[in-house]
Amino acid sequence: MQAENLTAPVPLKIKTITAPADALGRALADLRISVIDRCNFRCPYCMPEDQYAHDHAFLRARERLSFDEIERLARVFVSLGVRKLRITGGEPLLRRGLPELVSRLARIEGMEDMALTTNGALLPRFALALREAGLHRITLSLDSLDPEIYRRMAGGRGEVEQVLTAVAAAERAGFDALKINCVVLRGVNEESVLPLAERFRGTKHVLRFIEYMDVGTLNGWRADRVVPGAELRTRIHARWPLMPLSRHDSAETATRWRYVDGAGEIGFVDSVSAPFCGDCTRARLSADGKLYTCLFARSGHDLRAPLRGGESDDALRALIAGIWSLRGDRYSERRAELRAAGVLEHVEMYKVGG
Ligand code: SAM
Ligand code: SF4
Ligand code: SF4
Repeated sequence: MQAENLTAPVPLKIKTITAPADALGRALADLRISVIDRCNFRCPYCMPEDQYAHDHAFLRARERLSFDEIERLARVFVSLGVRKLRITGGEPLLRRGLPELVSRLARIEGMEDMALTTNGALLPRFALALREAGLHRITLSLDSLDPEIYRRMAGGRGEVEQVLTAVAAAERAGFDALKINCVVLRGVNEESVLPLAERFRGTKHVLRFIEYMDVGTLNGWRADRVVPGAELRTRIHARWPLMPLSRHDSAETATRWRYVDGAGEIGFVDSVSAPFCGDCTRARLSADGKLYTCLFARSGHDLRAPLRGGESDDALRALIAGIWSLRGDRYSERRAELRAAGVLEHVEMYKVGG
């Protein structure tokens, strides 16, 4: 018997049992991880200032999942078929040491794409460290180029210039094609749409207009405040003709369009007027370890207790696969009917991210 055969390293077996499709046949392919429920902004459509007293009880550090716990759950999710991770919040850059978490997640075998959504205020400080840690993509939120309207959309916090500085910092750090999210509220920032389109035409960045959604319970959502994406497309098309592009993949939330004159791409997330629940492969993990199977779910499934209670990875895998297999969520497709029936209670957006 040869000694080297006895000492040769045993190849590490990575367990991948793809989660069963949910009750509507949708795979589990994306995970959005909220790392903190706090935010330095108070956007009225998400976390309206008048609803949050200064002493509002946000999660305490020990209630939040630690980096070890997030990494472990992310590995379990990836082993179940998740390929894309998105780090979000609240404002994710308020979570201390975020680049370290990113570098841990970047090493997960099987994970193909990792993005971060941020309001940008702190990005210049972290862009390079995030890039070096292995983050692939960044989405920045920017609702107007007009300083007054911007501040109104951010709840009186932040400055447009900070976001533009964040764009430049991200470019310098090597993030070449950013996504720029703009939520449009009728009567508030509609007039910001064309200037934003003009600003990002001809760049590699993809501006995306998002319909205002009835997330959470506190934002006083009204259907007449939603500006349908089709209306925005008509306006933009009248100035700079657009042509539809095919989606990169069916689970993408935005429809893709390109400027006919070659000035790049623009997207529309028509989540209210043209829901896309049929292709929704997204799970959401809150900062305190609850698994939400829909952005409009009323409650989540606690993964922190089993995690801290010493359950094995196999047990966590079975738990998550079981939850996913029963998933029948399609709130946006049933919005009118459910709202009429009084189903108005949803998890707050800042707890589960976008
Ligand atoms: N704080 C970060 C930010 O604003 O980019 C990340 C978290 S935030 C909840 C993620 C995304 O959700 C942002 O682009 C934000 O504009 C969007 N969002 C928040 N509330 C929304 C609403 N009621 N309707 C549509 N989009 C919303
Ligand atoms: Fe904060 Fe983002 Fe919500 Fe605005 S949208 S309040 S920046 S979490
Ligand atoms: Fe997915 Fe729920 Fe949004 Fe439908 S409403 S696309 S199921 S998160």
